[in-house]
Amino acid sequence: MTIHVSANSGCNLGCSYCYEEPDRQHSQADIDAEYDIEEIMARLRQFEAKYDEVPGMHGGEPLLVRDEHLERIFSWIYETYDLEETGRHTHIQTNGTLLTEEHVEMFERYRVSVGISCDGPADLNDNRLARSEMDGELRDVTERMTERTLDAIDTLKESDVGVGVIVVLTKQNAGTDERLDRLLEWMDDLTRHDVGGHYNPAIPYEDVQEDESLSPERLKEVYLRTWEWMKAEPYRHWGPMGDYQDNLLGNKLSNCVNNTCDVFNAGAAKIATGDGATTGCGKTWAAAGDGNAFLQGDSTGNEYNDTEERYEMLKQVPGPHTDDEDDHGGCKGCRYWNVCQGGCPSAGIEYDYRNRTRWCAAKYALYERIEDDMRSMFPGLRLVTDAPWDAPLAEETSRRNVDIKPFAGLHFGQSSNGKPTVRGGAHDESDVWSLAHDSLSFDEVVEQYRDRYDEEHLTIDRSRQSVHADSDSQ
Ligand code: SF4
Ligand code: SF4
Repeated sequence: MTIHVSANSGCNLGCSYCYEEPDRQHSQADIDAEYDIEEIMARLRQFEAKYDEVPGMHGGEPLLVRDEHLERIFSWIYETYDLEETGRHTHIQTNGTLLTEEHVEMFERYRVSVGISCDGPADLNDNRLARSEMDGELRDVTERMTERTLDAIDTLKESDVGVGVIVVLTKQNAGTDERLDRLLEWMDDLTRHDVGGHYNPAIPYEDVQEDESLSPERLKEVYLRTWEWMKAEPYRHWGPMGDYQDNLLGNKLSNCVNNTCDVFNAGAAKIATGDGATTGCGKTWAAAGDGNAFLQGDSTGNEYNDTEERYEMLKQVPGPHTDDEDDHGGCKGCRYWNVCQGGCPSAGIEYDYRNRTRWCAAKYALYERIEDDMRSMFPGLRLVTDAPWDAPLAEETSRRNVDIKPFAGLHFGQSSNGKPTVRGGAHDESDVWSLAHDSLSFDEVVEQYRDRYDEEHLTIDRSRQSVHADSDSQ
């Protein structure tokens, strides 16, 4: 979960593909809009009593908030969450154009990590200020703003502040191979300097931003090419490729778009707005459809955070990987269900949050390529896909911090000419769960299986502490 202060949803840029832009146009959000710092602080105190997560600032352009108020928010977070002692950080997501030396000093003082929103070098950013038409003057401003953002990244690289980059993928920076190559070159330079980042594909909301977003087929090409780019050098690390590796290894499901999410009250995002009200994830704008900004309600006291209805439906509704049935927008039978869960509801196909994500083909292809590569490098590796379909293994590893010991079946040795070798041991999926028994009691594991499978399909071996469901049950 992330907790954000979004003091003012206005922004000094006007990126035409930004997920907040439809709401800005609807609400006429203004960069001069007032906010009430006392109300924001009151809401933060309420969040603190309820959640453990360290809040940060995200939404609109947070550097439009006056410096004294930024200092008040960050110093309160620093003290209240004991960041120094616990080694944790707070964060800010900014376009970087308003960054000053004073900000950098403040971020160093209060352990603030910085996420910069930037979509590549030079003209790959040209839609960061595009309006309906871009005349010469606006292009000038765009170029200057991009230079400021790139300068901000350089400044932060020189400081003690942790910095990462969010790249929104659009036709402008990834629509052709030539553009993608330039983007990858830029990312290479960042990663050489220990600056990692993450792709977010721009979501084409209904009747809005359609012409700027990548098609699902193009996103698939971009993901696969980027995975090859990432594999080529050990210093390169970029999301979502790294997240997918982790997900398959059962390490965590940290990214909300690979996990369950209630579109009406996203458990992954709790927002304090400038008047002290609360709301949830801004990406749900598309689902409203009636011009009201977002479907999200008060996110402080809602007991429906963990609703699973969409996911119960998705796993029963036929999709592209269901044998002998037509695709009806679901995920039934998909090999990667347990680490994908149908994706973000705001990107549901046909603008319907109940359907699986429009990015399905790209996600599936990337998981498949990563799985093949990991298995060929480490024969015998145990991955989440070795568990029975819909076994909640990835979820459990995330919630309970369980290590499923993916390398437990491997034997490392040397060949006769002295070269290191890796051999796979017996690969028996039945004991995948039992590997985790240090953290989960065996009875708990069995209970989980009984909840999901009929007794006749289960084989329970108490002496080996193993349980599995036969393939007829899947
Ligand atoms: S890849 Fe994801 S969205 Fe596509 S069918 Fe599988 S679980 Fe559903
Ligand atoms: S709506 Fe999408 S982006 Fe927002 S919290 Fe849910 S999964 Fe994440």
